[in-house]
Amino acid sequence: MALRLSRSIVGEAEARAVARIIEEDGYLGMGAETRRFEEEVAAYLGVAPWQVVSVNSGTAALHLGVFAALQGAEVGGATDAPEVLVPSLTFVASFQAVLAAGCVPVACDVLRETGTLDLVDAERRVTARTIAVMPVDYASNPWHLDETYAFARRLGLRVVEDAAHAFGCRQHGRKVGSFGDLVCFSFDGIKNITCGEGGCLVAFDEESARIAADARLLSVEGDTAKRFSGARSWDPDVRLPGWRFHMSNIMAAVGRIQLARLESEFIPARRELACLYAERLSGLPKVALLRTDPTDFIVPHIMPVRILDGHKDAVVAALQAENIPTGVHYKPNHLLTLFGGGRERLPATEALYDELVTLPLHPGLSVEDVETVCAALARALERV
Ligand SMILES: *Cc1c(COP(=O)(O)O)cnc(C)c1O
Repeated sequence: MALRLSRSIVGEAEARAVARIIEEDGYLGMGAETRRFEEEVAAYLGVAPWQVVSVNSGTAALHLGVFAALQGAEVGGATDAPEVLVPSLTFVASFQAVLAAGCVPVACDVLRETGTLDLVDAERRVTARTIAVMPVDYASNPWHLDETYAFARRLGLRVVEDAAHAFGCRQHGRKVGSFGDLVCFSFDGIKNITCGEGGCLVAFDEESARIAADARLLSVEGDTAKRFSGARSWDPDVRLPGWRFHMSNIMAAVGRIQLARLESEFIPARRELACLYAERLSGLPKVALLRTDPTDFIVPHIMPVRILDGHKDAVVAALQAENIPTGVHYKPNHLLTLFGGGRERLPATEALYDELVTLPLHPGLSVEDVETVCAALARALERV
């Protein structure tokens, strides 16, 4: 079978779980199965069930995170939109979520060695309108979180963590999503676990959790508790804007199986393959791995490497000639038309972008597959 860059790892257990909802439960929308998924995610992370707000995508989680941060925020310069600091090297979802929540995403440079937010650059971009910072755990690397939270505390900002890559990761022994402010996960098809599509927000104050839980259901006040007990609110009040971002019972049924497979299957597989990549590539000239803290526990969602000295395009072409797919994570957002079209330069981000090549990584790959990719990469580098 052809090598794939990434793919969903789902099978009979997920199929049976979906069939059970259709044939036995009979309610496909947000209901008891969604509540059970939230409870199990909460238990996995070691937080209370009220803290976990499941939604239908990671982008929706980020949107609600920014929306919750905005309520009660003081914004200087009333005529201008509030601003959120975001590293430019991220999925366009981060930027679009900020925009959708009525804020302006302010593109910040990243560190060339890790691809994570450069806080020195970010601080230069703080204004009276800045309400939040959105750090991204790029390639599942949570090492910057302590510094980012200290930065936010010092400047009075909320933190909306884009932890889409980092479900299952631990920073200094603490699970990502077990501490912080507003932590957002994605459960889309290729993330560390999937619900088909899906995501969740983990909030650490009751007000934000309540606002997000209501806003995912059109901000109908208290509707979540009703739906979880199989009822509806027929005389509700609505005070805030809201969206249809809730997670269905069908998605939750898939997610519950995936969560049960995470520690036993997905984490060991992803870590073993990434470890093999690191072993094979660390000796090669013209390749550099992204830097991580050895005391962090990383469950890699993607495997980007740096190809040095301007050889990226040649290496990508050589791998393609051997039917090995590669990816780009990501085209920096400040280069996209909607977000400035490159009017502003972010030197480290652009230099890193010129080096980054993503190699295949998912739990369906074998050790031999990774050996094949590494051997092809080594041959390509000999020829450049
Ligand atoms: C996947 C991803 C998202 C968005 O999640 P979806 O579930 O696809 O909406 C946001 N940010 C990053 C960095 C991602 O990788």
